[in-house]
Amino acid sequence: MVVAYHPPPTMSASHTANGSGAPDQNPYHVALTQYDRAVRYLNLKDNTVEYMRYPHREFTVNFPVVRDNGKLEMFTGYRVHHSTVLGPSKGGIRYSTAVSLDEIRALAMWMTWKCALAGIPYGGAKGGVVVDPKTLSLRELEALTRRYAAELVPFIGPKSDIPAPDMGTNAQIMAWIMDTYSMTMGYSVPAVVTGKPLNIGGSLGRNEATGRGVIACMIEALKRHDMNDPEDVSLVIQGFGNVGSNAAAYAHSLGFKIVGVSDVYGGIHNPHGLDIPALRNYVAETGGVRGFGGADDISNDNLLTLSCDVLIPAAMEGQISEENAPYIRAEIIVEGANGPTTPEADDILNDRGVHIVPDILANAGGVIVSYFEWVQDLQAFFWDVGDIYTRLEKQMQHAYRSTEATAEEYNVDMRTAAQMLGIRRVAEAFETRGVYP
Ligand code: GLU
Repeated sequence: MVVAYHPPPTMSASHTANGSGAPDQNPYHVALTQYDRAVRYLNLKDNTVEYMRYPHREFTVNFPVVRDNGKLEMFTGYRVHHSTVLGPSKGGIRYSTAVSLDEIRALAMWMTWKCALAGIPYGGAKGGVVVDPKTLSLRELEALTRRYAAELVPFIGPKSDIPAPDMGTNAQIMAWIMDTYSMTMGYSVPAVVTGKPLNIGGSLGRNEATGRGVIACMIEALKRHDMNDPEDVSLVIQGFGNVGSNAAAYAHSLGFKIVGVSDVYGGIHNPHGLDIPALRNYVAETGGVRGFGGADDISNDNLLTLSCDVLIPAAMEGQISEENAPYIRAEIIVEGANGPTTPEADDILNDRGVHIVPDILANAGGVIVSYFEWVQDLQAFFWDVGDIYTRLEKQMQHAYRSTEATAEEYNVDMRTAAQMLGIRRVAEAFETRGVYP
């Protein structure tokens, strides 16, 4: 396999990196375009603006896994530390065939702004392996994870860089990473990862945290639209993984009507509302949402343009583009995924008055409870779930309200406001610390 070399960032908002003038779908270019849009309002020193454009460290590894049939196969993995200015870098690890160095750079940069916006003492990082985990047996998945984790040992640690689950990874994978790291150190280090199983130092509420935080943000946004009765609010959710399914379950328990959901294989629609607990059982049995009784099967494209009040993209980057943005009918978009909306789509939706609650705000619940998990591990003292949910909600509401206040003060959209708050905190800390040596 040939691994392409991607040079460090130089592009600015004034040109598209593919040179064709066509919209640029590269997630890292999207992240840099958003950054350029936000720093315009911040009056920062040029040196500081230049510094924050760059990922601090980038690690690429090609490593072998022996498949069950005895053949050796090579895999490529990455870990990018975008920033460690505010503390250890923090961010998930994803297993997906769409993983690339530029995608991981974008996701690491978004983690930096997300943690700073949420007011937690972390920088930003992300990792990934180019693999479809569904094509591996359980033994192969463990072997791949342990080898990748072993390669990561010099770059991760409870005081330096703390991974967590993301697309295609879960609590069991975090357990294997924690165990591999601990075996290398010679003692157990629960705080090296978050999103672990409860029985090895995980936190109550971590699994549900991102979905719950998404709905907490949605409720704040609905208040601004005087839509206060859950039964009158219809939701469409793209993605039924950890974020989408937990958002759906929490929203359903509060009485909201979920009229459409989808996964990688396609979507389902019922304008009268879906029975989410029954759907979750169905997905556990069949592996997908399609064919669920009492709903019509629809395509993923059609799902995004269904009639609804709130659209929650909770799948992956670049799903809402200039192609479908004109046809989206939701009044409010709450981004459970990272980077689901391109800058071109942002412009179209903002012009149309659609209220977008951006990713680094809406999906911060995951990393906020990761922070609680890390604090509990370091203190070896564990909290009850009530404390966790109360603190999560308080922190999400605070971030939402500061973002809204900034959007009003500067007359900018919520994405630009959220990025401004995150970027400003990192910039101030960078200037206070100064440049070494
Ligand atoms: N992967 C999640 C995110 O994108 C959580 C990261 C974490 O908990 O460190 O925010």
